[in-house]
Amino acid sequence: MDQEDMDLRDYCILESQRLETFKSWPFKADAPCCVSKMAEAGFYWCGNEHEIDTVACFVCGKSLDGWDANDDPWAEHKKHAPRCAFVNLGRAEKDLTVAEWLELVIQIKTYLINKQYDQMRKKVVKYCERKREELIKSIKG
Ligand SMILES: [Zn+2]
Repeated sequence: MDQEDMDLRDYCILESQRLETFKSWPFKADAPCCVSKMAEAGFYWCGNEHEIDTVACFVCGKSLDGWDANDDPWAEHKKHAPRCAFVNLGRAEKDLTVAEWLELVIQIKTYLINKQYDQMRKKVVKYCERKREELIKSIKG
């Protein structure tokens, strides 16, 4: 699997993994919108030095930025991604049942497998088109 096939969601299934992604964040630990609350609400950091408050959800993939120190990460998640399976459970990882947690993992893995399949399929189609053109060219001499 090459770099473009990688998806951060695969590495952010656990709250502790999401927490580790935060290389920078504009608000302190005592703010309602702190790093630990962001990770708890399903977000991992995908920002950069210019946009330090860009995050995405490990289940639905919704990307959000423009956070305010007093924002409630759970409320914002629900507002912008009302169909997300994680936000609809509405509980931190430690409060989920094993069955609920596994259902989320299955959803993420299914999404990733489908995405990989699409990428591989596109590569094969492109390869076949190129070979077809080469063949036509060689026949025409
Ligand atoms: Zn979500």
